[in-house]
Amino acid sequence: MNYEGVIEQSFVGLKELVESGEEIIGYIYPHAPLELFMAHGFTPSLIRALPGVSGGFEESLQTFACSYIRNLYSQRTNGQFLNLAGLLFPGNTCDSLQNLGDVWRVRFPDDRVFRLTYPVTRYSQDDSTTKFLAEEIRLLSETISNAFNRPFLSESYERAVELVNDFRSSTQFLYCARVVNPKIIPYAEIVRFVRTFLTAPTISSVSVVKDAAASVRTTADKLGILDTIEAVRKAITIGDYTGVKLPDDLETPRIVIAGGMVEPQAIATLINDMPDMSDSVIVLDLLSFGFKTVFTESPSKSDDPYLAMAQSVLTAPGEPTHEGLSYRMDALKGLLSNLSIQGLIVCEQSFCDPDQFEAPSIERAASELGVKTVRIPLDPELSDRGRIETRIQTFLETLE
Ligand code: SF4
Repeated sequence: MNYEGVIEQSFVGLKELVESGEEIIGYIYPHAPLELFMAHGFTPSLIRALPGVSGGFEESLQTFACSYIRNLYSQRTNGQFLNLAGLLFPGNTCDSLQNLGDVWRVRFPDDRVFRLTYPVTRYSQDDSTTKFLAEEIRLLSETISNAFNRPFLSESYERAVELVNDFRSSTQFLYCARVVNPKIIPYAEIVRFVRTFLTAPTISSVSVVKDAAASVRTTADKLGILDTIEAVRKAITIGDYTGVKLPDDLETPRIVIAGGMVEPQAIATLINDMPDMSDSVIVLDLLSFGFKTVFTESPSKSDDPYLAMAQSVLTAPGEPTHEGLSYRMDALKGLLSNLSIQGLIVCEQSFCDPDQFEAPSIERAASELGVKTVRIPLDPELSDRGRIETRIQTFLETLE
């Protein structure tokens, strides 16, 4: 299925939910406490940039606004948004999102807009950052409760934790299976599952992922690689790769896709559309809508659900808002050097400050390990598609 088809399919799932009477709260920054919305009886849906959105009213945004949020804003002004009960903006992540949230309130005063402010880093001696986020989530819960007269229900929360955990557990397994054998399931298929779930996190979208994971598990067992997959999963989770021994006959090249709010499907489509190329060259992505969401830990069983959700949100690996630069680069080096990676494609959303700040450090970390890199600036419309394809293709040829 091509990129447009995947978007259409996930959108249809969301539309069906709305038509069946479900109320949706949209969120834009991927590390939102999904369980909170479900505990209040709402379906959280990740609102994303779309290809083919024509710009309008862009003069309302500051000049530094990235191409991603310009696309979101244009969707709203073009009337391409579904009817949402509310929309959550993050605070303290990047200037573009802050600007989008501020402008949105003024331009669309009838939209119900919420804000969740994140701490600068997850690390603090006295755990004050986690407590800060827990308090923010509790306040958001109160606001939702008052705005809609829908209290936080513990039973719904527990069901939500289970649902999201099932999704993460199955997708983590699939991601790790591909690290050991990238042909065991296409990358495009896994990221389609992730997109479908994040657009409409329902029992049926989780069942599809669970079934795929069960089928891959059976294949992996027959191939004798199940233990290696579990070892990779443990290593990625704890950052210690001493227990990982990959098979000797790995197919090359093996590449990783790094970046932030870049669409994994767009990258898969670009590579699959190249002659004599398939997404089996992608061993892993480190993108916000892929790896960083999938490898977030689920909330622990705790008497304080707000604290548990805050702890969970802050475990999203590799997010600049959550982890310091040196920590992120050490984690990247651990991945590259222990998972036999030859090449790294660093995707940068146009005019995204965090991506552009991060890219030189990523290049340096990779070059210290002898891993080749290429930087690919892109926007949600893939407006420079021909040039992007040529750069990726040339890069892959140099690896071969
Ligand atoms: S793409 Fe970059 S600048 Fe734009 S919203 Fe995401 S993190 Fe912010």
